[in-house]
Amino acid sequence: MATMKQQVMTRPARDGQEAEIIFRDIEIPAPGPGQVLVKIKRIGICGSDIHVYYGEHSGTSYPVTQGHEVSGQVAAVGEGVAAFVPGQKVTIEPQVVCGKCYPCRHGKYNLCEELKVMGFQTTGTASEYFCVDQGKVTPLPKEMSYDDGAMIEPLAVTVHAARRFAELQGARVAILGCGPIGILLAQTCKAMGAESVLITDVSDHRLALAKQCGVDHAVNTKNVEFGKALADAFGPDKADVIYDCAGNNVTINQAIRCARKGSKLILVAVFAGMASADLFTLNDHELDLDTTMMYRHEDYVEAIRLVEEGKVQLKPLQSAHFPFEKYLDAYKYIEANRETTMKVLIDVDPTQE
Ligand SMILES: [Zn+2]
Ligand SMILES: [Zn+2]
Repeated sequence: MATMKQQVMTRPARDGQEAEIIFRDIEIPAPGPGQVLVKIKRIGICGSDIHVYYGEHSGTSYPVTQGHEVSGQVAAVGEGVAAFVPGQKVTIEPQVVCGKCYPCRHGKYNLCEELKVMGFQTTGTASEYFCVDQGKVTPLPKEMSYDDGAMIEPLAVTVHAARRFAELQGARVAILGCGPIGILLAQTCKAMGAESVLITDVSDHRLALAKQCGVDHAVNTKNVEFGKALADAFGPDKADVIYDCAGNNVTINQAIRCARKGSKLILVAVFAGMASADLFTLNDHELDLDTTMMYRHEDYVEAIRLVEEGKVQLKPLQSAHFPFEKYLDAYKYIEANRETTMKVLIDVDPTQE
């Protein structure tokens, strides 16, 4: 019986106690009918994983096997699988949905009433092999690196967010928050037709990285008030849409109070608690406040296309790699290097082939 290692976070870093990640040996699963066995190559760590690390992710209990940003290679296919062949590069879409509820029946399965996400409410991909229904597997181009492949998931988040603004073509876009999602969204908006993008943050390091990725205007709101940054970048008409990729009371109120009257705000970031937002101004200025939740398959397809065509750069956002067995060290690294860290990748299998 062939075995493999599977990551398990048994407890979070909370109440003065260190988090614990163990690796258990389990049997390599055999793909059943309609399933694909994927040899996992890379796993990205994102903000929501960090919430799990600190025990601050409401929908996740322990023990949990993490991993939802992933790339790998088809190792074997089950009966009736014609679309995949062993050796093929792939990524996995981590949503597990019911297929029966109102959103599912209307094509909006990202909003499934019973939504479970791998690595949170159901087993994640952090194991040497992962067996999954073929419908969750998406092929990656041969030329794409496994590092980039593991970032298709966060890029799909930003493709979905960009598409929430129907008039993106030729638009002036402002983005609050210069983390990986903010920088990916800025690149996505430009790739999908925005005329010009302003991004703001309070970290010069992060703003410099955004510039390096081709963002037109990058402004530190510790030094320049957001309303002035908007006017400097776009003139008196300001932005056509403002995306909040930071998600705190400061940024959401900057967006509400500085937006052009009648324009659109889109909340991308996940708020940690109850917001204190200026609903008087939101109403008085007839602002549209919209939201965005994960992605659907078509967003993956578009994300892959944007990388393939060289319209989005992922490499500058890849801050560090850790071997599979050093999973816990990856979190400690992120903790110690908050400001300078973008995406940390776990090399479950470090090879490129
Ligand atoms: Zn993620
Ligand atoms: Zn559903």
